[in-house]
Amino acid sequence: MNKSRPYILAEANWQTLKNAQFELAILPWGATEAHNYHLPYATDIYEADFLSAEAAKIAWERGAKPIVLPTIPFGVNTGQSDIYLDININPTTQLAILDDVLTTLNRQGINKLLIFNSHGGNNFKPLVRELGLRFPKMFICFANWFQSMKREEYFTNDGDHAEEMETSLMLYLKPELVLPKTFWGTGSSKKFKIKAFSEGWLWAERKWSAVSEDTGIGDPALASAEKGQKFFDDVCLKMGNLFFDLCKADTEDLYE
Ligand SMILES: [Zn+2]
Repeated sequence: MNKSRPYILAEANWQTLKNAQFELAILPWGATEAHNYHLPYATDIYEADFLSAEAAKIAWERGAKPIVLPTIPFGVNTGQSDIYLDININPTTQLAILDDVLTTLNRQGINKLLIFNSHGGNNFKPLVRELGLRFPKMFICFANWFQSMKREEYFTNDGDHAEEMETSLMLYLKPELVLPKTFWGTGSSKKFKIKAFSEGWLWAERKWSAVSEDTGIGDPALASAEKGQKFFDDVCLKMGNLFFDLCKADTEDLYE
């Protein structure tokens, strides 16, 4: 029995696509990098895959027509050049990939793209600005799913890498790929000495290996599959409604 989901391009076939018409393309974007000692290198990719698929299902079942493209597996990891097999692709490479994807969508009349970002090092704002000039008929936007909810309502400890939130998600989504708790590092990290960094108005890239010993940032100790499931369900519902709204939005009439 064929089980291909109609909103997942990787599972689609030409038989169903030759007459299809989608309203919104979603491009999930991950990274391949160490996640503390205990989570897999593809953590951001798995998160992007599961979240975007479930959100697209919600939008589809409400009557929208989104299509999720295959996840881009590599992200910007310029600050982790000395961490074994963290694979960096540069922002200029991301610009080139997006330019090519947009060229296809633009030619074929899918004039909305949502970049579904799963990795903090990916910064799409300057790229979206530049691509907007190149593709005036395209509506291009991006969402960072990890910023879509108030984390403190779900998790005790904060952080931004392989922490309680990501560990909980992976315990729910891919428990067979998570090492036992005895291997979890504490995810403790150092901060810049100059105060303006923590006040948020000065930025420099963190040299990851100098900031965190186990590559994690944030203590995963209180993570659980139950917390992961609740967070996953709520992010998917919020994102699913966003996909629906973007599908139905009139790009000539966006403001009120
Ligand atoms: Zn991650």
